[in-house]
Amino acid sequence: MSTLRIGFLGLGTMGAPMAMNLLKAGFRVQVWNRTASKAEPFAKQGVKVGKSPAHVAAESDIVITMVSQPKDVEQVALGPDGVVDGIKPGAMYVDMSTVSPSASRKLAGGVTTKQAEFLDAPVVGSKGPATEGALVILVGGLPSTLERCRPVLSAMGKTIIHAGGVGAGSTLKLATNLMLAHLAAGFAEGLLLVQRAGLEPKKYLEVLEASTFRSPWYQTKGAGMIKRDFSTHFALKHMYKDVRLMGELGLDTKTALPITKAIEQLFAQSEAAGKAEADYSAILAFLEERSS
Ligand code: NAP
Repeated sequence: MSTLRIGFLGLGTMGAPMAMNLLKAGFRVQVWNRTASKAEPFAKQGVKVGKSPAHVAAESDIVITMVSQPKDVEQVALGPDGVVDGIKPGAMYVDMSTVSPSASRKLAGGVTTKQAEFLDAPVVGSKGPATEGALVILVGGLPSTLERCRPVLSAMGKTIIHAGGVGAGSTLKLATNLMLAHLAAGFAEGLLLVQRAGLEPKKYLEVLEASTFRSPWYQTKGAGMIKRDFSTHFALKHMYKDVRLMGELGLDTKTALPITKAIEQLFAQSEAAGKAEADYSAILAFLEERSS
């Protein structure tokens, strides 16, 4: 068993399997989740459940957050009884949520007031890779902090990429999800077009898989969309959040993102049509409703 004490905050779709992998790797893990019931499977395994983010941070060498949006992670880290209230000098705080690079810098600013170190370390990969410990982890922060955290990150991910200074992991993550949002929106439109023209959807998948721009995504998510399986692995509300954050980053960096803006509208309308909690692939269902 490792002597490192890990505090894991946020046991949602991603956080729960990630924290389980830390346990399996032999780390001493303490958990906390806003909705207490999600910590019960951990308590049943004898894992300590902390009273608040500050309490967990006070007893951890490395604190990890995996929550939803910038405002949520700011509340958990910088709010009353938050990570910064409890963190010890020399400890490390790793935020793995998908947030804006400006939010990452704000979190780093908070923990450095306590002589602690910070990494933004968002992930590529959904519930499956999170369960298998096969995430791709994009890291922003000092190389020395990454090296101290590497054994812990390696228990959750198979590929660790150092993107640059604080905020660089978040920037690379948003640019990566930009491609995923475009892929999902493009596939949904193409699939609908093929179906409405009376062709067999599986033929469309066959062509895409034989193409030079083939992707394993078509076999997993694409095949699921053809079967109308919108069970949630990555909630549509989170993809909409990511596309909004891409727009904000576009403004900050003076980058024109006209196609991403159009896709943002598509996710906004899908959310307004009641699909927030469904998988992001449910944009197909929204497009179908709009096309009838
Ligand atoms: P999720 O299932 O919706 O879980 C969200 C977690 O954040 C829950 O533990 C929730 O607590 C907590 N939370 C939200 N707001 C909070 C607040 N104000 N205070 C305290 N806790 C709060 O989301 P997820 O799919 O695990 O995603 C987590 C993060 O990873 C997001 O940033 C997402 O964009 C990113 N991500 C997701 C995927 C994916 O495929 N799912 C892949 C890569 C990255 P409660 O239980 O109390 O609601």
